[in-house]
Amino acid sequence: MRKNAAAEPLQLGLPFGQHSPPGVAGTHRHIQIHGAWLRYRLSRRRRRTIGLMIDEGDLAVTAPHHVSIGEIERVIAQKAGWIASRLEAWRARPRLVAQWRDGGELPFLGDTLRLRLDAGARSVQCTDTKLLVLPLPATATAERLRDTACAWLQAEAVKVFTAAVERFAIRLGHRPRRIVLSSARTLWGSCTHDGVIRLHWRLVHFSPAIIDYVVAHEMAHLKVLDHSTRFWQTLEELLPGFAEPRAALKQWHPASLDAV
Ligand SMILES: [Zn+2]
Repeated sequence: MRKNAAAEPLQLGLPFGQHSPPGVAGTHRHIQIHGAWLRYRLSRRRRRTIGLMIDEGDLAVTAPHHVSIGEIERVIAQKAGWIASRLEAWRARPRLVAQWRDGGELPFLGDTLRLRLDAGARSVQCTDTKLLVLPLPATATAERLRDTACAWLQAEAVKVFTAAVERFAIRLGHRPRRIVLSSARTLWGSCTHDGVIRLHWRLVHFSPAIIDYVVAHEMAHLKVLDHSTRFWQTLEELLPGFAEPRAALKQWHPASLDAV
């Protein structure tokens, strides 16, 4: 939180809306702070204090039944700096977006491919200029684009994961019995006691550093199945500096990529 009061109105002008209507709209209320409108959602609970949180880009306020709107809005105004920085962080959050149309974007290996529909193409081709040519007519539906591109992504995932497994197998001296592509709801990867490694195919959207982290993590389980100190030491030997890609991956959840 910033302490410089003079700079505050300017910062607040950024994340708060300028044109929101005042008053109550549905479950939302609006409060004017330093000339900018801030929308918030109020719910009353049996509790002692006023709670503020950022929920899906909205300020959510929970307050005890007896506290007046005036008191609630005084607390919001006091916390305006904190709210502004949290809203900014939410707006700047990483997002994966695929656009299922000719010229649309597709995240791939931490980079962005541009989709190109070409009814004359014989198969899916990825060019040096980061174009992903799909053998589909211009009239193809978004669903067909998605199915075609995702089939290609899954085939690429197999290649990328296999190459990473090979690299780590040499360093580790262990090799999985089998690699399986997964689309698990909650796990990026897993390793069974009998040496089967499952890797979520949607990791292929992410940078090679993140993919390496997940692959190295599951490979380290071939040696140490639990998450003991020995496991993390094994992983550090296999992939020095793994903390950074690990932290980067924490911002994502497999289920949240279903819409991509
Ligand atoms: Zn693990």
